[in-house]
Amino acid sequence: MKTSSARNRSRRRQFPGADAPEDLSGDLPAEPLPPEPQDEDEIRPGADAPVVLIPVGKIDESLFEAIRPVVEETFRRSTAMHKPLPVPKYAYNPTRGQYHSAAILKRVETLRDSRWDAAIGLVDVDLFVPEVPFIFGEADRSTRSAIISLTRLKPESGTAEARRELLVKRLIAEAIHQIGLIRGLAQCPNNRCVMFYSATIQDTDKKGASFCANCRKRLASES
Ligand SMILES: [Zn+2]
Repeated sequence: MKTSSARNRSRRRQFPGADAPEDLSGDLPAEPLPPEPQDEDEIRPGADAPVVLIPVGKIDESLFEAIRPVVEETFRRSTAMHKPLPVPKYAYNPTRGQYHSAAILKRVETLRDSRWDAAIGLVDVDLFVPEVPFIFGEADRSTRSAIISLTRLKPESGTAEARRELLVKRLIAEAIHQIGLIRGLAQCPNNRCVMFYSATIQDTDKKGASFCANCRKRLASES
């Protein structure tokens, strides 16, 4: 599970009138001063801000319904559904036969609203970043956004019921991992902790969806 939380998204902002000649026409400004622009790295959503779940392409709605209560309980946040985004054809890389994660994450980030706690996109295409064969998901802490791919979470054998149960279990682990990253947690060296970095689906199955004691403590202090 790749995270790009260290990405520096600081941008220079042009203050209105910053380079204008000094106005000496009166003691009081004719209009109120413009509000201080909000630094994108310092979004502080309120305690009632929801985690917003966004289908990217056609995604089985019942999967969202399965993960929402767990996300709500784990992070003590409400969740909300966003209307689906189009299938991310723009991110397809024909050489790799995969979809560029950063391009899709960027689309999710453009929806971001300061009243949201986090924006989590769910896609059913195989994601990559240039340096690794594939990724399960990607988070960006500065924009409080993440995407998760279902493609490699799908079990290949077992009954339909068993496959679905395992898919939901993996999806919950992935969602908690990505939201944990957004909430300020780091990858954890404990392979039984949900914040452990999954390089393979076996890693995901082994670690499960619970935090280790250290990560739970950190989460409590970050929240
Ligand atoms: Zn941990």
